[in-house]
Amino acid sequence: MSVDAFALAKQRFFRYTEKMDLDGRYPGQNMPEHLTEPDRSVEFRLSLKRDDGSILVCRGYRVQFNDDRGPYKGGIRFHPVVDLSEVKALAFWMYMKTALVDIPFGGAKGGVTVDYPALSLAEKERLTKRYAMVLVDELGSERDIPAPDVNTSAREMAWIMDTWRMIHGRYQRGIVTGKPIDMGGSLGREAATGRGVVFAIEEAAQQMEFALPGATAAIQGFGNVGSATARFLAEAGVRVTAVSDSQGAIRDPRGLDIAALRRHASEAGTVTGFPGAEPFARDDLFAEPVDILVPAALEHAIDADNADRIQARLVAEGANGPTTMEAAHILQEKGKVVIPDILCNAGGVTVSYFEWVQNRQEFYWTAEKVDEELRRVMVRASRAVFAEAGKHACCLREAAYRIAIDRVAAAASARGVQ
Ligand code: NAD
Repeated sequence: MSVDAFALAKQRFFRYTEKMDLDGRYPGQNMPEHLTEPDRSVEFRLSLKRDDGSILVCRGYRVQFNDDRGPYKGGIRFHPVVDLSEVKALAFWMYMKTALVDIPFGGAKGGVTVDYPALSLAEKERLTKRYAMVLVDELGSERDIPAPDVNTSAREMAWIMDTWRMIHGRYQRGIVTGKPIDMGGSLGREAATGRGVVFAIEEAAQQMEFALPGATAAIQGFGNVGSATARFLAEAGVRVTAVSDSQGAIRDPRGLDIAALRRHASEAGTVTGFPGAEPFARDDLFAEPVDILVPAALEHAIDADNADRIQARLVAEGANGPTTMEAAHILQEKGKVVIPDILCNAGGVTVSYFEWVQNRQEFYWTAEKVDEELRRVMVRASRAVFAEAGKHACCLREAAYRIAIDRVAAAASARGVQ
C-alpha cells in the first residue's frame, strides 16, 4: 500500500494517549513510545518455484509487536499490496484488540506480498510452507500463534502446522488457530469474526434504541468476515440489501437471499452475476440507503472522499483499519455511530483463544458453548466501551483505545524495562 499505514496508526494512538497523562501516571517510562515500538519485525525473501519451472520472488513479513500480556497472536495475509508498514499496523491493532477484549495474548501479524489467488493449489502450498519454514523457530503455542487473515484460511493453517511438525518432529496443536476441525480446530472459529460483528451490532443497536428486525444493511467485502456477517445479520432479521467484493457490487432492495448468495459466491468466486440482483459500481456501496454499513474488506476504504456519502447511522468495522482519521472525523460530525475495528472484529481472535484453550486441554467444546462464551466476551467488551465513551464524552474508538491502553500500559510497567 502506498500510504504509511503504521505511521497513521501511531498518529491516532498518540492523539488518545495525549489525553491520558501516561507520563504522569508512569513517570520516566516513556510509555507512549514504549507501547508503539514493535518487539521484533522480520522481512525476508521467499522464492517460489512455479509449476512452469520459473521462479517468483516475493517479500514475506512477520511482526511480533508485543507479548507483555501473553504470546504473540495474529493472522497471516497474502495480498499484492501487503508491505512491512501495513503488517506493523495490523500487528499493533492486534495488540490493542487482545487487550480490549481481555484475552491473554499479545499482538502480531504476518504477510506476503503476492497475488495469491493467481497461484495454483500446489504453488500455494509451497509458498505457505516456505513462509512457515523461515519462521519455524519463531512460532509456537507459547510464543507466536498465527491465524487466517485476507486470502488465508484453515487450509493454510494446516500447512503451517504440518511444516512445524515436520521440523520439530512432534505435534503442537496450539501452534496455529483457525485450523481445520479434524486437526484440532474449534467449532465456530470460521464464522467467529462475523458472529462477533453481529453481537457488537446487537449491543450498539440496543444502546441506540433501534430494532434490528426490519433494519437494512450493506456490506463491503464478501470473504470470511463479510459473508459470515451477512449470514448472522440475516438470521437476526436484518435485510442485507447490498454487498460488494473486489469484482463488483450487487443490490436488491427487498433483501438478498444470503444463503443462496453464499453458495453462488463460493462457486463463482464472486458475488457478481448473482441471479435476480442488480449490479452496480463497487465504490458506490457506501452511499446505499441503509441503517447499517459493514466495511469488511481492506484498510482505508472509508476516506474523506466517500465518508460524506454514507447514509447508514451505524458503521460496524468488520475489517481492520477501514476508516481513515479524516473520515472518522466526518462521520462523527454527522452523528454516525462507528463500532471500532478493535472491538467489532474481535470475535475472530476471541474464538482463536478458545481454540488454543481447547488445544491445551485436548477437550473440545460444543458449537453452542463457543457461541455462548463469544457472546459473553463481546457483550462485556461492548458495554465497557459504551460506558467509557459516556464517562469521557468521546467516540467509541477513543473509548476502546482508552481501555486497551490502560491494560497494555499496566502490563508493560509491571513487567519492567530491563
Ligand atoms: P477474505 O480474503 O476472506 O475477504 C476479503 C474480501 O474483501 C473479499 O471478498 C474481496 O473480494 C473483498 N475486497 C477486496 N478489495 C475490495 C474492494 N476494494 N471493494 C470491495 N471488496 C473488496 O478476508 P477476511 O478474512 O474476510 O478479512 C477481511 C477484513 O477483516 C480484513 O481487514 C481482515 O484483517 C479483517 N479481519 C479478519 C478476521 C478473520 O478472522 N478472517 C478477523 C478480524 C479481522
